[in-house]
Amino acid sequence: MSGNRILVTGGAGFIGSHLCERLLKNDDDVLCVDNYFTGRKANIAHLLHNSRFEIQRHDVTFPLYVEVDRIFNLACPASPIHYQHDPVQTTKTSVHGAINMLGLAKRVKARILQASTSEVYGDPDVHPQAEGYWGRVNPVGIRSCYDEGKRCAETLFFDYYRQHRTDIKVVRIFNTYGPRMHPNDGRVVSNFIVQALRGEDITIYGDGLQTRSFCYVDDLVEGILRMMDTEKGVTGPINLGNPVEFTMVQLAEKVIRLVGSRSRLVHKPLPQDDPRQRKPDIDLAQTKLDWSPKVALEDGLKETISYFRRELAL
Ligand code: NAD
Ligand code: UDP
Ligand code: UDP
Repeated sequence: MSGNRILVTGGAGFIGSHLCERLLKNDDDVLCVDNYFTGRKANIAHLLHNSRFEIQRHDVTFPLYVEVDRIFNLACPASPIHYQHDPVQTTKTSVHGAINMLGLAKRVKARILQASTSEVYGDPDVHPQAEGYWGRVNPVGIRSCYDEGKRCAETLFFDYYRQHRTDIKVVRIFNTYGPRMHPNDGRVVSNFIVQALRGEDITIYGDGLQTRSFCYVDDLVEGILRMMDTEKGVTGPINLGNPVEFTMVQLAEKVIRLVGSRSRLVHKPLPQDDPRQRKPDIDLAQTKLDWSPKVALEDGLKETISYFRRELAL
């Protein structure tokens, strides 16, 4: 379906900017709302010439009155460094942001999709993680502002669905990477690439045997769009991520090889509550959305390395 009036909150961020780009290719009118906390105007500067694209500086913790058909709610800092910088604001963004966007969806009868996260599973004792797993989340730790904020947002989405029949969609996004990641967001892919390009030591937290599964941003955006296009009543939550699992040491070795770097691995303390393993069960996305990721880590890393090379002008 094209020709919709679409609101993307967090549209100047890493994933949001790729989503805006895809929506414009689909002939939709796109309103990008962002407070530029972690997003950057540079991420969307190339879209500004398009008359169907509009940006509005706005913080989603405050009410927003616009007329739209569909809402993608992505506003929220995503990297531990950023979401722990002002944890109270992080919870407010997830919770008050969800209330305001759901209130907006209810008033204008828009369909609304929530960018939730694998962090709702916490440090999981079930592997891989399927949607039916309720998670193992510390409610009072340094990651809780993000994890519990996102969990509460999911609750709000399902209560608006049950109570007001709001047309909701919830996707749980697993680690995603690609061009336009913030160079200072402290995430493992951006850190390793930047360190390798600068010839600095690669910082492995803990023993480096913890695992993650990395999804290339183009694959993720395709999954998000497919979810938004499902019929009413397909609410999710649905996992979106790449199920191929790597240890952080394996990732570091891959990045060093692809960059052709002489960086060495050094070990640093493991952050508090750092999940030991993470891998999505994507059966539901495969059956309901006919979706599975296509881009292999090596290919996605090459694109991301080229991006950072340009960013750092190396
Ligand atoms: P990002 O930090 O690049 O993007 C988030 C955007 O939201 C930024 O542009 C930021 O300025 C904006 N924002 C933050 N607080 C806001 C507020 N109060 N009002 C308006 N805008 C606000 O992060 P991202 O990686 O693009 O993540 C996008 C969404 O996807 C987030 O909701 C995140 O939780 C979710 N997600 C991302 C990943 C991942 O691996 N990148 C994984 C799981 C979930
Ligand atoms: N809201 C908004 N835009 C709208 C409609 C509502 O930002 O177009 C906000 C509004 O400020 C309210 C929240 O969404 O605080 C929840 O709205 P809802 O109608 O569900 O609840 P109520 O207004 O009754 O608290
Ligand atoms: N990590 C690491 N070195 C870094 C940054 C992160 O070893 O320089 C580890 C981190 O401890 C975690 C994994 O990489 O185990 C993924 O971290 P990230 O912050 O990217 O995402 P998340 O923990 O939210 O999955």
